Amino acid sequence: MSKVVVRFAPSPTGNLHVGNVRAALFNYLFAKREGGRFLLRLDDTDQDRSTEEYAKGIETDLAWLGLNHDIFAKQSDRIAEYEAAAEKLKAAGRLYPCYETAAELDRKRKRQLAQKKPPVYDRAALALSDDEKRALEAEGRRPHWRFKLADEETSFDDLIHGHTRIDPNSLSDPVLIREDGRFLYTLPSVVDDIDFAISHVIRGADHVTNTGVQVQITRALGATPPVYAHYSLLLSVDGRPLSKREDADFSLRSLRETGYEPMALNALLARLGTSDAIEPKLLLEELAAGFDITHLGRADIRFDPADLDKINAAFLHMLPYEAVMGRLGAMKCDLGRDFWEAVKPNLARFRDVELWARVVGGPVEPVIEDASFAAAAAAVLPSEPWGPETWSAWTGAVKEKTGAKGKALFMPLRLALTGLEHGPELKNLLPLIGRKRAEARLSGLSL
Ligand code: GLU
Repeated sequence: MSKVVVRFAPSPTGNLHVGNVRAALFNYLFAKREGGRFLLRLDDTDQDRSTEEYAKGIETDLAWLGLNHDIFAKQSDRIAEYEAAAEKLKAAGRLYPCYETAAELDRKRKRQLAQKKPPVYDRAALALSDDEKRALEAEGRRPHWRFKLADEETSFDDLIHGHTRIDPNSLSDPVLIREDGRFLYTLPSVVDDIDFAISHVIRGADHVTNTGVQVQITRALGATPPVYAHYSLLLSVDGRPLSKREDADFSLRSLRETGYEPMALNALLARLGTSDAIEPKLLLEELAAGFDITHLGRADIRFDPADLDKINAAFLHMLPYEAVMGRLGAMKCDLGRDFWEAVKPNLARFRDVELWARVVGGPVEPVIEDASFAAAAAAVLPSEPWGPETWSAWTGAVKEKTGAKGKALFMPLRLALTGLEHGPELKNLLPLIGRKRAEARLSGLSL
């Protein structure tokens, strides 16, 4: 069995949008392609901002996309494991208490910047004696805990960025535990990655610097770091980072309500930022087979809703009748295979089938600009049964009788039969509309 285990680790502090759901999709596709497992882990240590509602929302969004997980975990269930790891780091002298207040740290930082020095924590707390610590605690101060970065070569192999080196001297010792005793994201994430035997960490490039810290913590806990892949973040079409407020339309919930197909979104996001062709696929397995994480480049990636419209339409146009029967039935639009084949090239959203079902089954308000032309056309309607050749036989007869041709022939017929200027090919629609309704509509009756 494959040793590949990957994870999607959202914090349930907001809704998923096109940007952050890429982490879920990439990890899922990577797991499928490698025959590995996919862990959904809720990074919910921030109790002030994490909510049950957001957690449910994430699960709903993932289920909609079909990104089902094999394993589930949430960090709030695993505090004992993080405490044990913290004790281990303390015993090894790698986790030390600090007593500076936020205001004191801020002053230090400003002083360093004024002296044109990098604002790296000066480790003053490491020099505190036990008596000094006791005195500070007697004043009512509670420590926060920092991980002591070692001055050692800190590098990792990244499937997208190649060999990446982080200079630990350019970083402050990271705070792992807050003064109220709560864990920040870093340590729980490392402990989970070790305990769940995560083989590959696939996440956004905004985490590259964290990775240097996490590599050191992983080693300090006696484990081997996973393989990393940091992909470029998705920007808006005009090159801004996506924002919750300005880009609310790109939340998964909103895309779902707009009527996009989950597999269209999957197909777009799986290939955006690679040089691989963006093509609709029926199944996630097919997307996974063609997914290669190393094809993701380092350049900026922009999300253009027009691309989603395009692939959504292309996806609908390739759907076989069998794949949509249930949905058509549920919408009371199942007028059979020929109907689906006739109308699908005209769909931008699935729900557009309602319009075409009404055009076929009526009632349609016919538009008749020349009643005598319409009457002449009605008079030469062939007798049933009707099939794919009926349209050309009929229009040939109308042309002969009236002398009309080209647009002057076809547009009045389309307007009378459908009430609309555009729509699916009439050759396909006409047999579905049938002689009775066609005749009525040509005489101006709504049927
Ligand atoms: N909870 C973190 C986030 O949403 C997870 C990052 C990671 O993949 O390690 O950014």
